[in-house]
Amino acid sequence: MDIPRFFTISESAHRIHNPFTPEKLAVLGRALRMEQGTRVLDLGSGSGEMLCTWARDHAIRGTGVDMSVLFSRQARLRAEELGVSDHVDFIHADASGFVSEEKVGVAACLGATWIGGGVSGTVELLERSLLPGGIILIGEPYWRQPPSADVIARGGLAGSVSDFLLLPELLASFGRYGYDVVEMVLADQESWDRYEGQRWFTMRRWLDANPDDEMAGEIRARLASEPERHAAYTREYLGWGVFALMRR
Ligand code: SAH
Repeated sequence: MDIPRFFTISESAHRIHNPFTPEKLAVLGRALRMEQGTRVLDLGSGSGEMLCTWARDHAIRGTGVDMSVLFSRQARLRAEELGVSDHVDFIHADASGFVSEEKVGVAACLGATWIGGGVSGTVELLERSLLPGGIILIGEPYWRQPPSADVIARGGLAGSVSDFLLLPELLASFGRYGYDVVEMVLADQESWDRYEGQRWFTMRRWLDANPDDEMAGEIRARLASEPERHAAYTREYLGWGVFALMRR
């Protein structure tokens, strides 16, 4: 079981697989006022940076579930590197339907809400692992400005305008699911640049090392087009943020 190879190639060097910098992840960790020993579940935990750094900085105990072989391995290595292997556990598995045996104080899904079939399904899934009074974290894109059909077609940001909401609409939607939004930390254009820029460099390095690989043509085409696409579309039209929710 693994994710498509394109992601493993283009994001092999990322510690954070979304448009957050380490600083923003740290701001989020502080914003949540977690007590020592708080259990945190992370579905689609990637290379484990959130759980590992929060275990180091806030003494939380973490469980991450991710479908990528490479990212799960990197997460365990990162835990060793930060000296928190006893406090975090990374499970290589499909997180769809995953409910933790022991309930948690914080249940998160950052940049992988397809795991629950969309935002509302993911909120419902995370709720099943949550202690009463716990916090759900959802990391999700939103439109910074309404895109035209042409932007959708050429930018490849979404299948349709309705895939994402404007920020006020996204915040209001959590209320309709029965949750208060109690905190949020947003990406910005420069943190998007960090996420995208790292991908270009990683793709270039990979191409230099693997010129005859069967995916070399696709990676070359992506490298040639992605900087311009990012500047024209992603950077202007897509925001991203992590929203902390508590049931009303
Ligand atoms: N939350 C992490 C990773 C976000 S990228 C971070 O912010 O760094 C999306 C992640 O979802 C990838 O690590 C990918 O391997 C994982 N993923 C995709 N489908 C999945 C599934 N069905 N179950 C578990 N993980 C999945």
